Amino acid sequence: YAYNFNAGPGALPSEVLQEAQEELHNFQGIGASILEMSHRSKPYEAIHNEAQQLIKELLELSSDYDVLLLPGGASAQFCMVPINFLTKGKTAGYVNSGTWSGKAWKEAQKIGKTLVLASGEKEYFKRLPDLNNLGIPRELAYVHLTSNETIGGIQYKSFPDTGDVPLFADMSSDIMSRPIEASKFALIYAGAQKNIGPAGVTIVIVHRPLLERIPEAIPDMLSYNVHAKHNSLFNTPPVFSVYMVNLVLKWIVNQGGLPEMAARNRQKADLLYHVIDTSGGFYRGLAHKDSRSMMNITFGISSPEIENKLLVELEQEGFMGLKGHRDAGHLRASVYNAVPYEHCKTLAEFLADFQKRNG
Ligand code: PLP
Repeated sequence: YAYNFNAGPGALPSEVLQEAQEELHNFQGIGASILEMSHRSKPYEAIHNEAQQLIKELLELSSDYDVLLLPGGASAQFCMVPINFLTKGKTAGYVNSGTWSGKAWKEAQKIGKTLVLASGEKEYFKRLPDLNNLGIPRELAYVHLTSNETIGGIQYKSFPDTGDVPLFADMSSDIMSRPIEASKFALIYAGAQKNIGPAGVTIVIVHRPLLERIPEAIPDMLSYNVHAKHNSLFNTPPVFSVYMVNLVLKWIVNQGGLPEMAARNRQKADLLYHVIDTSGGFYRGLAHKDSRSMMNITFGISSPEIENKLLVELEQEGFMGLKGHRDAGHLRASVYNAVPYEHCKTLAEFLADFQKRNG
């Protein structure tokens, strides 16, 4: 049995996988699989609507938000956001905190004018750019940031007040990992495959009044307005991914909701950061302490030989997904909602023991 520390797709709750397995052949006694049912059928529509409703409840969204369930991954949102909102003559503000926000910014530059409001580049994206004094021009189309940089392992704990300028966030790798002050955001998007399900569906939460700004001329499949008008059933949605997301959301509710997820995630991350910080320099965290992520713990060993030895041993012992992203190297432990505390404890003990043997 593997200890799954994959960055994405990440671990899913084992109870959810079991439930899906049991239902796969015969969904709710209907005699057919959810995989082979029409997206216009009553059973699927119930799942679709329940998933949207659970997202609203868990994030405590007010009634003027729409929840869209879209294909294309978060990467499609990198272009959909500016296509919908970076209208002619406007400028969009981007916070550049690392790989993912950088990609979002790059896509926006293909559509219109952009302005970098803050950048972590000078500190090699190991520390989050400060959001306190962004100096946001009032005429900006929106401000875009990334709440958790999955590769660098840095995560915002609080978010700025952007006044009349709508705040947009890519929350792909920390959505549903903690409560957020949703009313600060006009748009939130997240690929499901880290905290809330398999790849294939992207959650987009949009403040409804914003939809009025979207030009009619953009292609239907790229228009948030078109998707909202059709309750995300404009075309065939990623049915199975939505079904899985719904099961995971119900699991989150049954576990105690987002406050409980946050408490558990804090404990899991603390356990691993503690091993790093008490190793006397054997292990070193890659992110600055004030910017550390609760989701993706990035660390390394100063000797590449010993680091490689560790990676080999981890794999032999059944620890999955600990090799750092190819752009960052070293190691990364992703401790999303579904990763049990016990798995983090086993990893922490293994790391401490490895140090004893190799330090
Ligand atoms: N944004 C963040 C923060 C991510 O971590 C990822 C993927 O890891 C993406 C965007 C891209 O997501 P997708 O592969 O769903 O396009």
